[in-house]
Formats: sequence, structure tokens, C-alpha cells
Amino acid sequence: MKIILDQDALFDNNKAASFNRDIFAKSKTVVINVMSSPGAGKTTLLEKTVSALSNEFRIGVIEGDLATERDAERIRAVGAKAIQIETNGICHLDARMVSKALPEFDLDEIDLLFIENVGNLVCPSKFDLGQEHQVVILSIPEGNDKIVKYPVMFRVAELVILNKIDLLPYLDFDIEQAKKDLQGVNPKSEFIQVSSKSDEGMESWFDWIRSLFER
Ligand code: MG
Ligand code: ZN
Repeated sequence: MKIILDQDALFDNNKAASFNRDIFAKSKTVVINVMSSPGAGKTTLLEKTVSALSNEFRIGVIEGDLATERDAERIRAVGAKAIQIETNGICHLDARMVSKALPEFDLDEIDLLFIENVGNLVCPSKFDLGQEHQVVILSIPEGNDKIVKYPVMFRVAELVILNKIDLLPYLDFDIEQAKKDLQGVNPKSEFIQVSSKSDEGMESWFDWIRSLFER
């Protein structure tokens, strides 16, 4: 019985996702769903990204959170339009939540839309939001084993960003092992290392974003 309910929910989600996908295609908006566990640094990465790229692209951000407007306020402070979706305890965004937020944007005036998903390495990967691109952030303090423990999440990633590499001297994190694990789970995924604190590696993330506009 539970399985049937779950499939229905995903069926409705997929309808809403294709609705969103049409809107993104018509307005030529490049959309990136950003996923990670809580505290991996999604919002900080996006703050830095908006600051660095807002002279190249018109950027919008949808912030998904269990509660509070805090992350949207941080993004607005660096000059992008940001809409907060408070999920009231639901641990992922679904396509209908995103559909409801879209009228808040004039997508013809937006080139690049980030959707910061709720911090969670499990169910966000199961809900298509209508985005074309999915990025997963992993951070040094979380340890190596996340990739093999949460393979479903890492399997949907087009790009894995290893964040907080400024902490490498202080923590045991085996980057080569992480790369091997990712290769085993999702050989197509790209992998970059950044510190959104020291800005190391951030240029390769920005180049990856730029490449999406050349495809
Ligand atoms: Mg956040
Ligand atoms: Zn969930």
C-alpha cells in the first residue's frame, strides 16, 4: 500500500516537473538543482557565485528550507532575486512547490536559476523539479564515506563539488578515494574541489556554469 502511494506522489511530481521544464525551455532559463547534506555550504557557495557572476548572467535563486527565510535573505544581500520555499518540515523540494514559486520570477529576465534544495542526501534525488542540471555538494567534514552510503544521490549528479578544501590539513579526508568511489557510483559525473571560504577552485565552478550556456 505504501508503495502505491509513493508511486502516485511521484507520478504527480513528474507532471509538475514537465510543466516546469516547458517554462524553463520557453524562457531559455538554465536551471541547476543544488543538493547536499545540511551544512555542506550550499548557501555560501551560492552567495559567492551570485557575487562573482551577476555581471555575466541575470541570476535568480529558489531557496528550499524546512523553516525560516534566512538563506533567501543572504542571497538577496548579494543582489539576486531570491524566493524562499518553506517546506514546513518536508525534507525535500517537489516540483509542485517549485511551480508555485515560479510566478514570482520574470523568467524572461533570468538567465540562470539556482534551486537550493533542502539539506538532505536522501529524498531530494527522487524528485525531478524540471531542472536540466543537478549538482551535489560534498564537504570535507562529512568524510569520505558519503558517496558509497548515499549512492542514489551521487548517481544523479552531473557535477560533484567537494567543498571546504581549506579544512584538508585538519581532517582526514582521502580525495583520491572519494574520486574512486564516485567513479564506481557514477562514472559520468564531473568532480571539482573548491573552498567557498578561501575561493580556491571557485573559478572552475564558474567555468562549469559558463559551459552550460555553450552547449
Ligand atoms: Mg542553505
Ligand atoms: Zn524528503
